[in-house]
Amino acid sequence: MISFVLTEEQLALQNTAREFALKEMRPVAAKYDQGHEFPWDVMKKAFEVGFLYSSIESEYGGGGLSLLDTAIISEELAAGCAGLFTTMMVNSLAQTPIILFGTHEQKKKFLTPFSQELSFGAFCLTEPQAGSDAGNMLSTAKKVGSDYIINGTKCFISNGGVARTHVVFANTDPEKGIRGMSAFIVQADTPGVSVGKVEDKMGQRASNTVELVFEDVKVPQENLLGKEGIGFMIAMKTLDKARPSVGAAGVGVARAALDYAIEYANSREQFGKPISAFQHIAFKLADMATEVNAARLLVWHAAWLIDNKQKASKEAAMAKAYGSDVAMRTTVEALQIYGGYGYMKDYPMEKLVRDAKLLQIYEGTNEIQRLVISKEILG
Ligand SMILES: Cc1cc2nc3c(=O)[nH]c(=O)nc-3n(C[C@H](O)[C@H](O)[C@H](O)COP(=O)(O)OP(=O)(O)OC[C@H]3O[C@@H](n4cnc5c(N)ncnc54)[C@H](O)[C@@H]3O)c2cc1C
Repeated sequence: MISFVLTEEQLALQNTAREFALKEMRPVAAKYDQGHEFPWDVMKKAFEVGFLYSSIESEYGGGGLSLLDTAIISEELAAGCAGLFTTMMVNSLAQTPIILFGTHEQKKKFLTPFSQELSFGAFCLTEPQAGSDAGNMLSTAKKVGSDYIINGTKCFISNGGVARTHVVFANTDPEKGIRGMSAFIVQADTPGVSVGKVEDKMGQRASNTVELVFEDVKVPQENLLGKEGIGFMIAMKTLDKARPSVGAAGVGVARAALDYAIEYANSREQFGKPISAFQHIAFKLADMATEVNAARLLVWHAAWLIDNKQKASKEAAMAKAYGSDVAMRTTVEALQIYGGYGYMKDYPMEKLVRDAKLLQIYEGTNEIQRLVISKEILG
């Protein structure tokens, strides 16, 4: 049975997220885009509403939201500001490996605090030489007695400078390649964990991105997720689950650009009439609206499949790649509709373009999504 009607609860969530985006995010989006400050004030409010722990099971203090619920919220929040959205979404990215593979004790210890006080998590996979090729990582976790000693450097880690809880991927058996990779929960205040370079980014500047260094970091074996050797699988399952939310963010960014462009096209007059009266502009807007709808349907479908325990790596990749490509195309076209004004920082367009770009890169580039899709369709 197919239904596109949102439930009362989903409509309420959508409404809460939309109001939050308009009242708490949009008014400060330019300020956090221009500075280097972490948006603690917005995050304090996001914590109070529950956005920073919404996907954790209710048994551990979370909102217990489905992926479809999360996609609905993600679209709204990203329409408010993609950088602020990323700061919130990355909490869920870091919590997901623990939700999927943590024991009851690990969930109680590491997930429950997210709902008790404002705190952040980070997902630490990427290394300087191992981006798309995550299996090529050099970080190691050596078993010494009942502890593991972690050494390595992670780069481009979102929330890395503010997170209290890191999920860190490292080799427990380097000889075995991706089958020798394991995942660990590492508290940020563990001796040997330090923040390296703080990245100065093109867009999504409200989101904190840093290098993290792990130097002889001792973690007890209770912090190993699952068992040794399944780290790569944990990372891939986590990314499958996270990708529809990135697609949803693409829909949100594209929708924001489209809304601005419609408003502008109806009010800007040239040659004695609103520019929306020119068919070229009207058709451009029609194409943008069509793509936004198509992207949303891909996102909702992928989220629904995952919520219903169906295999969905391909659909999650399609949702992520298409949603973020639509964000890129739509923001560029919307900027064009603004003409010269679109290029100026006084207007929202140039930030939307810069913010959209990252959606095509993080959580697996769109080339990697096409690799996932093509491998599956080619068999
Ligand atoms: C702002 C930001 C935040 C991030 N946050 C996190 C985070 O929180 N945690 C984390 O672990 N990582 C994070 N990342 C890392 C991100 O996931 C990687 O940047 C991404 O996976 C690409 O890796 P790379 O940058 O090393 O590019 P590379 O892997 O070097 O790729 C370079 C280019 O080659 C292409 N390419 C590579 N391999 C192939 C192939 N087989 N076929 C076709 N094309 C290919 C890529 O698509 C890309 O266009 C973040 C990155 C950024 C920029």
